[in-house]
Amino acid sequence: MSIETVPRDVSGLRACLFCSLIKTCEQFEMDGCDNCDRFLQMKGDTDKVYECTSTNFDGMIAACQPHDSWVCKWQKIGDKVPGVYAVSVSGSLSDNVVSDLKAMRIRYVPNMRDTTGK
Ligand SMILES: [Zn+2]
Repeated sequence: MSIETVPRDVSGLRACLFCSLIKTCEQFEMDGCDNCDRFLQMKGDTDKVYECTSTNFDGMIAACQPHDSWVCKWQKIGDKVPGVYAVSVSGSLSDNVVSDLKAMRIRYVPNMRDTTGK
């Protein structure tokens, strides 16, 4: 087995710092975050993608029917779009983004998803 057999896409995976949705960097650039783009506005903005997503995450949950899944309720993603989510994401949104969210009255709990070190 050579290194070429590892899917290229896996190396570009990033997790949204707000909702922990996992997609490739390109997908975030093309479509933004399916849950958060109305306020994070990553679509077409590479810098914003890097600012609002992290490569440093642990675990993956494939959520096909988030509304029906206790795992998703427990992970607080029961109201999110179906997709692949990180169990925990390290890092938090920058102060700029957080103050933008505040202005839009969107509640952001820093490191809510960060369960590392607990
Ligand atoms: Zn998101």
